[in-house]
Amino acid sequence: MNTTDFLQLPPELLFAFVLLFGLIFGSFVTMACHRIPLKQDLICKRSHCTACHHPLGVLDLIPVFSWVFSLGKCRHCKVPISFRYPLIELSVALGFCFIFASHGFSFLTLLLFLTWTCLITMVAIDICHDHIPKSLFATLLLLGLGYVFLTKAEPIPLLITIAIGLGMGTYIYASVRIIKKSNAFDYDDMYLIIISSLFMTTPAIMIAFLLLASVIGVVLWPIFRFVGHHGTSTPMPFSEALTASFLICITNADNVLKLLGMWMEQPLA
Ligand SMILES: [Zn+2]
Repeated sequence: MNTTDFLQLPPELLFAFVLLFGLIFGSFVTMACHRIPLKQDLICKRSHCTACHHPLGVLDLIPVFSWVFSLGKCRHCKVPISFRYPLIELSVALGFCFIFASHGFSFLTLLLFLTWTCLITMVAIDICHDHIPKSLFATLLLLGLGYVFLTKAEPIPLLITIAIGLGMGTYIYASVRIIKKSNAFDYDDMYLIIISSLFMTTPAIMIAFLLLASVIGVVLWPIFRFVGHHGTSTPMPFSEALTASFLICITNADNVLKLLGMWMEQPLA
């Protein structure tokens, strides 16, 4: 079957393929977000239960379904397995579906699949370890440069967009750190904003991306306080908000700009 035949399959079947592809990548992310902070091998080492160290078989490695059928427990030692594993797998898979729906089948789609995988790995590690490894920022930066190359972004709007990213990242970091004497916003979020500017490519969509991330952050904050049991000391989940805003802006740029234009009461290109 060649690419043309593949794309002529019914849309439901195409999305089922993309969903399955995303679940496989999601399963890789759950393993990577455990191993990257421990600097362990990502490919050769066999997966095992982190509690009883029993090697995982095929039945333990089916994304989402393994967790559901084992009722969220290890099949061997019955220690509970966090719900974040199926959540990560679903987040990657649904992100893939949104990207495929907006960009179709292309090199750009594959690059965005890798970008989304990298972003979810970053968020998952950030939630567990409060820190994002530099190797993931380097990967995201390379993917961003690839995106600029593939989309043939106009140099001047792109430079203005990067300048907005640099300016806003530094400004928000400095204002939270110095004025409020709080570390609710850290270097990781600043790097994420700056590298994301490579994907936004125009100043209007960059501003929309930041505004949308702020709104999502404010909405997510009480949920994270409730789930994380840290009460008022829970920092604002800004990397999560930036990642959600990233997906929305990348897959729905026109609608996001329309909304921003309505809010500013003037049409935006
Ligand atoms: Zn176990």
